[in-house]
Amino acid sequence: MSLVLQPLASGSKGNATLIKGRLGSLLIDAGLSKKRIVERLRQVGHRPEDLDAVLLTHWHKDHTRGASLLCRRMGIPLYATPACMPAQKPELLRQPRTFRPGESFEVGEFKVESTALPHDAPETVAFFIEAQGLRVGIVTDLGHPFDPGLPARLRELDALLLEFNHDEELLHRGPYPPFLKERILSREGHLSNAQAGSLLEQSLTGRHQVLFAAHLSETNNRPEIAMEQILRSCHRAGRADLEVHLCLQDQPTQAHWF
Ligand SMILES: [Zn+2]
Ligand SMILES: [Zn+2]
Repeated sequence: MSLVLQPLASGSKGNATLIKGRLGSLLIDAGLSKKRIVERLRQVGHRPEDLDAVLLTHWHKDHTRGASLLCRRMGIPLYATPACMPAQKPELLRQPRTFRPGESFEVGEFKVESTALPHDAPETVAFFIEAQGLRVGIVTDLGHPFDPGLPARLRELDALLLEFNHDEELLHRGPYPPFLKERILSREGHLSNAQAGSLLEQSLTGRHQVLFAAHLSETNNRPEIAMEQILRSCHRAGRADLEVHLCLQDQPTQAHWF
């Protein structure tokens, strides 16, 4: 075992993903309360104080809720963009570190690349993280998959955690008020199953070991509908054999050990 990818929570009530290397570990987003994050880390056998850093994708609460307090209490460095950092009370943090979208940096054994995503929070990013010769992509909260550079970056991965937010039909028929439906469907909202599926189809290669489908809406999606889309896309890409997990909201998802 040299790398572990372990989603702790995924969805509009909170997102957090643990990446464990041989020497250290990172938490991508901390969108549950500090208490819940500590609980879930312990549940998967990880000591929260052992985290090398917490990295934030953007300032929406479902990605940042417990971040500042966790980092303050445990003395963990917090990485965020200039747009995201001010709400994290950086004056109280021991090690606030800012990076600009597109910048790369190193944290312990991890080489981290960031790239800008189209979303309705300024400076939203995806992370591509490399350690032990393996490359993992964390790509959630994006309004559209049309950045021509994105599939090329996803093709270079060994593991991908990708947003499958909603089924368009369910969203249209569902209970959300019109302004919220518009927001989700907009080019700065969230990826539909069909959009994510098409991106996946363009991106899958023989290198990918696993897909985690993330940020599934509990109201506007169904696990079986998302899975149907994923299996169709994998089949079309010639990767019907790919290991696939749907990320869970209320408990850690089964991890992938490389
Ligand atoms: Zn968001
Ligand atoms: Zn989100």
